[in-house]
Formats: sequence, C-alpha cells, structure tokens
Amino acid sequence: MADILPERFPVIAPAELLTWYAHAQRDLPWRRPGVSAWQILVSEFMLQQTPVARVEPIWLDWIARWPTPSATAAAGAGEVLRAWGKLGYPRRAKRLHECATVIAADHGDEVPADVETLLTLPGIGAYTARAVACFAYRQRVPVVDTNVRRVVARAVHGRADAPASTRDLADVEALLPDGDRAPVFSVALMELGATVCTARGPRCGLCPLSACAWKSLGYPAAVAPARRPQKYAGTDRQCRGRLLDVLRGNDSPVSRAQLDLAWLTDTAQRDRALDSLLVDGLVEQTADGRFALAGEGG
Ligand code: SF4
Repeated sequence: MADILPERFPVIAPAELLTWYAHAQRDLPWRRPGVSAWQILVSEFMLQQTPVARVEPIWLDWIARWPTPSATAAAGAGEVLRAWGKLGYPRRAKRLHECATVIAADHGDEVPADVETLLTLPGIGAYTARAVACFAYRQRVPVVDTNVRRVVARAVHGRADAPASTRDLADVEALLPDGDRAPVFSVALMELGATVCTARGPRCGLCPLSACAWKSLGYPAAVAPARRPQKYAGTDRQCRGRLLDVLRGNDSPVSRAQLDLAWLTDTAQRDRALDSLLVDGLVEQTADGRFALAGEGG
C-alpha cells in the first residue's frame, strides 16, 4: 500500500472534525471545566489499560478523596491499592502514588506542563506525558494512542490499521491545526476512533470526515491478521487479582493458608503470582510470615 499511496492523502479537515466533536463528544467527568491537571493525569493513568465505563466511578471516588498530588502522596500505599479496586494492572496504582509523591515534593504540588519534565516522573511514558500537556495544558503536541493511530491509518493512509511506529508522532503532528484548535483536534481524533472509527466495526455512516482513503479504496483488508483479544480467565493476571482481592478485603495481614484458598487450580501458578506481587512491591510479608498490601505489613 505504501507503494501506491502518496505520503499523505487526504488530510483530515479540522473544521469537519471539530464541528462533529462539539456535539458528539461524550460527557466524561475528566473533561469537565474545573478539573485540575493532576486529576486529568489520574484519569490518564487509569485509562491506559481500562475502559472508560470502569474508570469513571473509581476516578470520581479517587479525586473526591485525594484531589491533589500531596493528598495522594499522604495516603498509604495499601490505601491506594484498595482504592484502585478492580481497575486491573495494579502496578499503575503504585506508580501513580510514586508520581504524586515526586510532584508534591519536587514540583510544588503542581503537575509540570512540559513534556520533557513530565517524562521524568514515575509511571509517565511518551503517551501520558503528551496527553497531560495537551489535555491539561492545551499545548499543541501530538498525542497518539491506538484510536488515533487507527483513524490516521484509515483516513490518511488507506490502511485498515497500523502498528505503532516511530513515525506516528510526526505523522499526527503534521495533521494538527494551528493555535487553540490543536488540543481540541487531538481529543476529537481520539474520540472519533473510540466511538465511530472503532477497530471491529467502523460506523462510516456517522463519520464526519468527507474524505477517507481507506473508504475510497474499498476497505482493503489488513496486511496482518487482527490480534485476538487477550484472554483473562486462568492467566497469572487473574491469579494476581484474586490474591490482591483477599488482601484488599482484610484490614490486617493474612496467613499463607488464607491466600492459598483464593486460587486452588494451579498451585505453581499461585506461587509464581504471589512472588511477582512481592517483587513488584504490591504485597509485603510481615516478620511472622503473613502477607499484607504494600505499606501495611507492620
Ligand atoms: S469513513 Fe469510516 S473508516 Fe474512514 S475514518 Fe470515518 S469511520 Fe473510519
């Protein structure tokens, strides 16, 4: 396909995307007026690997309880892991707590605004740094997640999808309009990928873009087969979640026998999962050999 298509054809017309976004955007709590940069950062941590519907209630409780970095930093690591609940991938909670601690101690309790400084913070990678700079500080920086990458692959390059590439940032930056419209364009592009130009079933009848290369070419099939959704049942991830559930449900350390009851099917897998939780610093062992959430082992 790269041999046939020019580098970029056609561009995404900002006016079309922005007009659509003005009426079609979802009312997500972290997009409302008055939400702070820290609270937007928290939403980005939570949304990295968890769908919006599951994030929303946890985020609302979280920011009501810990509205600032210093309030989060003052909480115990175990409290933070409890509040993370069933969002999954709990290392994110630990990294968020560490990030809050650094912002409170070294940045005057204010989330830094520039991408380079954001990248020095615990748990913040290339995507999150740009998302915070764009969504919280309204900067003209490209923000590329899987939704944005897919819309650009289809509308601009005429491909069903595209793997992550070192060209992604430059590719999306070239599409951004100037000035104040850039951050809204970025969030609108993401919204289009999340709600209309979805991976499994693009709803082209609802699409605001008048020009789409993939549609014009008759929807050529993907070069690589679609990735199967990751299974969860029976995985180490599920096993880790069960063990953490036991610890979250207890205010005091629990015995190994109590933990063992959480996963009876594969004892070797259970041992491996528990070891990994200890290595990750999400769980700790007390002097008498019992187990507790991080920071709660005495
Ligand atoms: S026309 Fe269809 S494939 Fe093209 S960007 Fe819109 S929803 Fe996606």
